[in-house]
Amino acid sequence: MSYILNQEASEAFFNELKKTYTIYAPKRIEKAGRYSDTDLIQYGEVQSFAEIVFDKKSTFPMKEVINPIQQTLFYYTEEEFRESSGPKKKILCFGRPCDINAQKIQARIYDGKGGFVDPYYKRLEDVISYVLMECPQDSDSCFCVSMNTNKTDNYVFAIKQTHDGLKIAVKDDHFEPYLQGAPITDYTASFPESNDLSLVVPEIPSKEIQNELKKHDVWKQFNSRCISCGACTIGCSTCTCFTTRDIVYSENSKAGERRRVSASCQVPGFDQMAMQKEFRSTAGDRIRYRVMHKFHDYDARFHEGHMCVGCGRCSDRCPAFIEITSTVSKMAAAIEDIKAKGE
Ligand code: SF4
Ligand code: SF4
Repeated sequence: MSYILNQEASEAFFNELKKTYTIYAPKRIEKAGRYSDTDLIQYGEVQSFAEIVFDKKSTFPMKEVINPIQQTLFYYTEEEFRESSGPKKKILCFGRPCDINAQKIQARIYDGKGGFVDPYYKRLEDVISYVLMECPQDSDSCFCVSMNTNKTDNYVFAIKQTHDGLKIAVKDDHFEPYLQGAPITDYTASFPESNDLSLVVPEIPSKEIQNELKKHDVWKQFNSRCISCGACTIGCSTCTCFTTRDIVYSENSKAGERRRVSASCQVPGFDQMAMQKEFRSTAGDRIRYRVMHKFHDYDARFHEGHMCVGCGRCSDRCPAFIEITSTVSKMAAAIEDIKAKGE
């Protein structure tokens, strides 16, 4: 069933939801943006519908709710340790179709489908449900349609902001009682059918061409452009790598906490091994690794489509204006170049 709620009824609905759920959504953090006097749109706990930003793509992805940039795993003393506590309530998380689809990729890595169950991820995943925010297609860096991530059915209800309230299409009957008595409407969720930007991901037809591609000069142009800051991976909806850091308390150096902290394959030292051995020592090597991972290697391993959901946040975040779709198009040209030379 679908409902229409005015402002007052929307907030009453929200207050009822808050009794059972912690609610996360994109919210505005004023003057915290990258440039002076710009705002940051970031996921966080919200206390009212009025706080939720519907009309702007969040600067950072939804993954921060379930896989935060830093997270305490356990606290320790010299004699014992105690695991950090998990969520106290069920979670409702508001997101656009690409954001919700990106969680499938996070789950592939963390919840056992890749062969290993991460308990810190799992305890959040077990209590989270998604609310679909109808996408107003406000960003010219999105290419979700090309990546087949423009639609999802993984949500409990869909929501659209109107000039004086909300339209809601309930998918999970559990939420019907919250809306009993509200005016009924014929609203159904709609999804983006096209983007300004499109991408055709090239096939890599053989292992030989894949190996040649790794050595191709196309990657060298990034040695002088990419500053290896890692902003693209921190902003990425689907990057999952992390490292650990021990925070030692100053009052007792034998006690502290171990945190999981996001890590970036774009930063020097990410792949450093014993004897300072590195496999990807230039920025070009690191971009090649990231792009092939997102647009070939993940699909080659899991056979479920590519790892990129087309959110465009890596392009938005890059201070060197390295744009992901044009980088993939350069890779496509390099594949054609290799094929032509082999003929
Ligand atoms: S690679 Fe870029 S466009 Fe793709 S999911 Fe990551 S941030 Fe989004
Ligand atoms: S591609 Fe851009 S955002 Fe990513 S590491 Fe290089 S300069 Fe930073």
